[in-house]
Amino acid sequence: MCSSGLRTTGGCMSEQTVRLRFAPSNTGFLHIGGARTALYNWLEARRLGGTLVLRIEDTDSERSRDEFTDDILASLRWMGIDWDEGPIFQSQRGDIYSPHIQRLLETGHGYRCFCSSERLAEVREKQWAAKQTPRYDRLCRNLDAGEAAARAGGGEPFVIRLALPDGEVSWDDLVRGRVTWSTSELDDLVLVRSDGSPTYNLVATLDDASMEISHVIRGDDHTSNTPKQILIARALGFEPPKYGHIPLIHGPHGKLSKRKVQMQDGVKILTDVRDYMAKGYPADAFVNFLALLGWGYDGAREEFTPSELIGAFSIDAVSKSASSMNLDKLDHLGGVCIRRLANADIVAGMTPFLVAEGLLNEQDLSSRTDQLAALGEAARERLDYFSAIVGIASYVLGDVADYDAKARKNLLKRAESPTRLRTYAASVSQPDMANASAQVLEDHARNHCKDAGFKFGDLVHPVRAALTGVAGGPPLFDIMLLVGLEVSVSRLVKAAEWTEVEAQKLADASQG
Ligand code: GLU
Repeated sequence: MCSSGLRTTGGCMSEQTVRLRFAPSNTGFLHIGGARTALYNWLEARRLGGTLVLRIEDTDSERSRDEFTDDILASLRWMGIDWDEGPIFQSQRGDIYSPHIQRLLETGHGYRCFCSSERLAEVREKQWAAKQTPRYDRLCRNLDAGEAAARAGGGEPFVIRLALPDGEVSWDDLVRGRVTWSTSELDDLVLVRSDGSPTYNLVATLDDASMEISHVIRGDDHTSNTPKQILIARALGFEPPKYGHIPLIHGPHGKLSKRKVQMQDGVKILTDVRDYMAKGYPADAFVNFLALLGWGYDGAREEFTPSELIGAFSIDAVSKSASSMNLDKLDHLGGVCIRRLANADIVAGMTPFLVAEGLLNEQDLSSRTDQLAALGEAARERLDYFSAIVGIASYVLGDVADYDAKARKNLLKRAESPTRLRTYAASVSQPDMANASAQVLEDHARNHCKDAGFKFGDLVHPVRAALTGVAGGPPLFDIMLLVGLEVSVSRLVKAAEWTEVEAQKLADASQG
């Protein structure tokens, strides 16, 4: 680190030092856009062997909340994003800014502005009327420095503005290429408010300089801040970092924001990381999905583990155009990820959802290990996210309390169903079936139908309804094993009874 703690245009920082930062404001839960910014910074830091700093921008005393800081940290940890320094809280760094503000005044790069809000409003009105872009008319810029200091000393309220130079500001954006702004598009922006507090652009610039940040990767919505921050850095004598602006994420109806709910194919697009966590997407799949929101490898490969991403990602390959959410892709990646997990990890992923649904308790975790492991294997081929296990587990771990409309139809379709269910139940209760595999159970069922002289389909649909209460799901004989033969038999008998009673009711109703 420089002895002054600051990176200056004189350049005391080694050319090789790569330092990135993720600088979220703690004014909301970590948004998917912020999470992608964090991920791209992390990937770039790890690729380049650099340092990642986590800086919490918590100077908005009205909106900053500890609850949001906790959420940001928990979300990053869940995603497997680690940082090397921080979290550093901007609110605790108030002291570092004053000498720099003083220096801006001394060098004339900053000046005191005493204009009242009424005057500023009047200036704006006139500019609107003349169809000009509203900006400060620089009245106080020409005040004599001594007079300005005396007025300030006399207690007159003032803000400090940046004295913008004429000309252009350009930078080679890591994503967008060469970007140029004319300073005529900018204002003599306020650096210090009348209460003495520094504004975002000054604080961000000073923090980036004092933390020796070499690369700033952030959302496109910050592009308009970059010429200001470059000018502030130059005014303070610091070498600005490299900047890369990532295009925003769009849903089917435009930019994703916290305020506007967007739907895709009837499904709500979740905007906060914690929502994806709560739905039970595997973190690695979510990270893979986020990486692809704006970045592509070779136009073909899409499946990456986090460590593969570190090898493959590069900020130069990030697209300049907005990226679109595709929830099907996330589901696909979720499925891919679950399929490659060890059984114990699938069970661990499912367990919180089963417990929350009341399908499992503490004791079951040790007493039903075989059943849970088998459920994990059934889940492997069918889940895209862990909360979906509840659908299957409700009849595997829980009871069949009722039959849904399709299941009812399947049970009531043939008058022979109750008898067939009972005879079939008796046949699978034979001792030689006790350790049958799914294949043996299926062969047995096929032979049973053949011997009894009816179609296989006429047995499996009512049997599935009896065992699950619903019409679809995993292969029937896998379910039978998951539920267990003994329980399956009692469900078959129960369904036979239910079908008889219902059939009788229907017959009575049609006669009456
Ligand atoms: N705190 C800003 C935000 O959350 C980020 C500032 C920056 O990256 O420079 O949008």
